[in-house]
Amino acid sequence: MADQPLVHPSPDQRQDALVVTGAAEHNLKSVDVELPRNKLVVFTGVSGSGKSSLAFDTLYTEGQRRFLETLSAYARQFLGGLKRPDVESITGLSPVVAIEQKTVSKNPRSTVGTVTELHDFLRLLYARAADAYSLKTGEPMVRYTDAQIAENILTRFEGQKLLLLAPMVRGRKGHYRELFEQIMRQGYLRARIDGELVELEPGHRVDRYKVHDIEAVVDRIVVRAQDEARILKSVQTALSLGKGSMAVMAMDGGEPVHFSRNLMCPTTGLAYPDPEPNLFSFNSPYGACPTCNGLGKVAQVDPATLVPDPKVSVKKGGIAPLGKLKDNLTSRIVEAILVNHGIALTTPAGEIPEAVMGEILYGSDKDVKLQDRGGVRGGSVPFEGMVAAIVRSAEKAKSVPLRRWAQSFMHRVTCPSCEGSRLKPVSLQFKLGGRDIGELGKMDLLDLAAFLETLDGQLSERQATIAKAPLKEVRARLGFLLDVGLGYLSLDRPTRSISGGEAQRIRLATQIGSRLTEVLYILDEPSIGLHQRDNRKLIDSLCALRDAGNSVLVVEHDEDMMLASDHLVDIGPGAGVHGGQIVAQGPPDQHF
Ligand SMILES: [Zn+2]
Repeated sequence: MADQPLVHPSPDQRQDALVVTGAAEHNLKSVDVELPRNKLVVFTGVSGSGKSSLAFDTLYTEGQRRFLETLSAYARQFLGGLKRPDVESITGLSPVVAIEQKTVSKNPRSTVGTVTELHDFLRLLYARAADAYSLKTGEPMVRYTDAQIAENILTRFEGQKLLLLAPMVRGRKGHYRELFEQIMRQGYLRARIDGELVELEPGHRVDRYKVHDIEAVVDRIVVRAQDEARILKSVQTALSLGKGSMAVMAMDGGEPVHFSRNLMCPTTGLAYPDPEPNLFSFNSPYGACPTCNGLGKVAQVDPATLVPDPKVSVKKGGIAPLGKLKDNLTSRIVEAILVNHGIALTTPAGEIPEAVMGEILYGSDKDVKLQDRGGVRGGSVPFEGMVAAIVRSAEKAKSVPLRRWAQSFMHRVTCPSCEGSRLKPVSLQFKLGGRDIGELGKMDLLDLAAFLETLDGQLSERQATIAKAPLKEVRARLGFLLDVGLGYLSLDRPTRSISGGEAQRIRLATQIGSRLTEVLYILDEPSIGLHQRDNRKLIDSLCALRDAGNSVLVVEHDEDMMLASDHLVDIGPGAGVHGGQIVAQGPPDQHF
């Protein structure tokens, strides 16, 4: 991500100028213009004068067209052709990147963090350097080498008789007959099943419908200093059978003590896999909160939409998704619930007791006894409630109109499992400076930058070393975003909720971070909506892009931007047919 290839100018280019001859796109009147390269150039003029025709419809379009021509014919057939702009010649044109005021992405999985790649670097940082904590007890997770485990046993249990246990199953259902056979084939005849020591025999099995913890008893040892080598060997046997985890337990009872080569909770033995960057990505199944699939929001039935008018009776359609009572099963069930509670069908929905309405909306554990009808006994039916039926239709209905209809009774709320962080619980147990990556996403960028500044002092020497490279990248990119006045955004902000101007400044910051050179950047009115102070920062950022070896062309009315330019081009004099000519050009202090 950090190492983008440099873009080299083609050999026929003059190194110092971009020369346009006979530009006649839209209202341009065969414009000839020579623009200095590697400078900040501003096109100004009244609205409709032809600034954008020259900047975007001529220079940008031609730049893109030339780029497409460098691709194979095979690739081009998928991309389609671009019409050559109406211009006689353009020389000295670098690869062009337009930084426009378009919203970045409508995808709900796209956030400020993902489009700026800051999230990627933070994920790397957390995977490498974060401290892990137990999901069950909150204690720091530990990991040991084989020798450390043996040493630990020697010092903590000297003189005691111990069982060495290899965990095989943790909190899962099944009869595990094959597993017991496999354990016995390896020569182990005892196991600890759900906390009980058991002699295994052929055909051993446990209740398949219950959740079990199973550990194989790998060895019995007496802890004596002179047996260190033997203890280490037994530890390694237990670790290999237990896939990196093991436990020891005093033979006369007591709680087992857990050890692991992996991250492990010292009290419960809960182990985590070594974290990969994916564990911190809400766009990966390894990291996404399973409740909301990484979206941070879940759809919930909105009770207010179910009973829109409390004055309307159930019979007349007081429960909106049900409508007027009809001769279908759901209507008969709702009718039966009311009648069974002695409530008239003509009672306004708002006057139905809460408990009865609760039964209609959320069901009950008792079957509903239907009314007899025409001499036929009604019988009893289970009822899940209107809400569950709506949720099911909204998620699973095959018919699109039915799904839409069900969704109209739902609204999106912050996911209760991840509280909007989009990540699964384990992912949030990895912390740097006491904070998980979800908390970082919620901070505004100014606070995030301040937090990262304090982080160095809170890292161990080992952490500081491995965190150095990703942290440097995060700080630099964050700095570019602050420079363009976006310090109030947060990384978890969905890009579909940001304005075109914000999106443009995010792109600008990302481009500065990409460290390309020899590029012509074209921007349309980037100072729109900016405060004076932020406008100054924006201008500084554009100058930084220029000083990195790029040409920057800005279409702009803002006076500060014009004064800051190296070369100002006034296009006009009027709009439409009255414009399309270069009125004046040169350094701003000389000509304006
Ligand atoms: Zn969630």
